[in-house]
Amino acid sequence: MQQDRVAVVGGGIFGATAAVELARRGHSVVLFERSDTLLSSASRANQRRLHRGYHYPRGMDTVEAVLRAFGAFQAEYGAALHHGSAHYVALSRRDSLVTAERYLAFCDSVGLPYREEYPPFLRKSSVEVSLRIAEAHIDIAGLRRLCAAKLAAEGVEVRLRTRADRGLLRGFDHVVLATYSSLNDLHPGPLSTAPRYQFEVCEKPLVALPDMYLGHSLVVMDGPFMCLDQVAGARHFLLGNVDHAIHATTVGRHPLIPAPLMRYVDAGLIRRPRVTRFPAFQHFAHEFVTGFDEARHLGSYFTVRAVLPHVETTDDRPTLVRRLDDRTVALFGGKIATCVDSAHQVAALLSQDPAPPLPPEREQPAAPAPLAFPRP
Ligand SMILES: Cc1cc2nc3c(=O)[nH]c(=O)nc-3n(C[C@H](O)[C@H](O)[C@H](O)COP(=O)(O)OP(=O)(O)OC[C@H]3O[C@@H](n4cnc5c(N)ncnc54)[C@H](O)[C@@H]3O)c2cc1C
Repeated sequence: MQQDRVAVVGGGIFGATAAVELARRGHSVVLFERSDTLLSSASRANQRRLHRGYHYPRGMDTVEAVLRAFGAFQAEYGAALHHGSAHYVALSRRDSLVTAERYLAFCDSVGLPYREEYPPFLRKSSVEVSLRIAEAHIDIAGLRRLCAAKLAAEGVEVRLRTRADRGLLRGFDHVVLATYSSLNDLHPGPLSTAPRYQFEVCEKPLVALPDMYLGHSLVVMDGPFMCLDQVAGARHFLLGNVDHAIHATTVGRHPLIPAPLMRYVDAGLIRRPRVTRFPAFQHFAHEFVTGFDEARHLGSYFTVRAVLPHVETTDDRPTLVRRLDDRTVALFGGKIATCVDSAHQVAALLSQDPAPPLPPEREQPAAPAPLAFPRP
């Protein structure tokens, strides 16, 4: 029997995972990626947390999705997880959108473990409580290597440095668009029927911090949000900030990138960016942590985040798999933990099978790992 030919557009973590899954199910798959490496856009320039729900006390859909998807991600990509940091969540005394009491009740209600504990650099006076939580980081270089190996093992034809356009996609039986912030570029119908997104041009500074930070990662939430995460296997940290990380926000069908940032977006680590919000990140951090005067800016990543518009109340970050026409499926990535789960959904849509059987070698996926603290 002749195999269906499937084009997957976008070599981020969602497209690469979908391509592997479709090849496992017997399709002949070509993966198109316009840059010269896999995982080069949002899948590289992110905070690298494998979310389990702690960040979303107002977004139960996101919490349920990541908890449901966690076991499948762990089974597929567990080797790229890094457990070297102690993770903390702290609740700000000012302007927090969730009180400590409500946050603890939320964790209890969804079974997320925690214990009260304070990292050495946290200003206790600025937070209601600090909790040690059970999360892990994603080693992006390791994840990229795993993806490349799985794509090769399943016989996926990977075409890097190839921007897919309508001409290139002609001749395929199915097209899976996994292009995240460029999702509407190849929308099959009139553009007026394409969904609108909120696009945020984000900066993610990479910094060296004093030694007392090593082995710790912190998020202050949910209001005056900031976070610092040690990069897997390195001594450096990635910073996040609710306001200062975002250089431009637009709602529409395509992102608008300010001209001075054009050449920085998805170009890897920019060592001395002419435009940077690092001083603002640093200033903001003083309220919550000590020693940030000594933070050294090593460079910044820039990328475009796409989220659904008007989700301020819940802050939800759904992953959406949608059929756009009889040939085209759109895969919009939310949290990375859901990439394997959503690849199964894409495969189900392509086979028109509402409850697709898992491929033989994965009939019994590993049970979700227990929610536990890594051993000290
Ligand atoms: C600042 C920031 C922090 C984040 N932090 C976290 C976090 O800590 N944990 C978490 O789980 N999630 C986080 N996320 C979300 C997560 O990074 C994204 O949901 C995820 O990476 C999306 O993956 P993707 O494969 O859909 O998109 P991408 O990684 O952006 O991949 C899309 C790919 O499509 C390619 N492409 C586009 N058009 C074409 C074309 N025509 N032809 C060929 N190729 C094309 C692009 O080059 C790109 O490589 C964060 C996101 C951002 C922006």
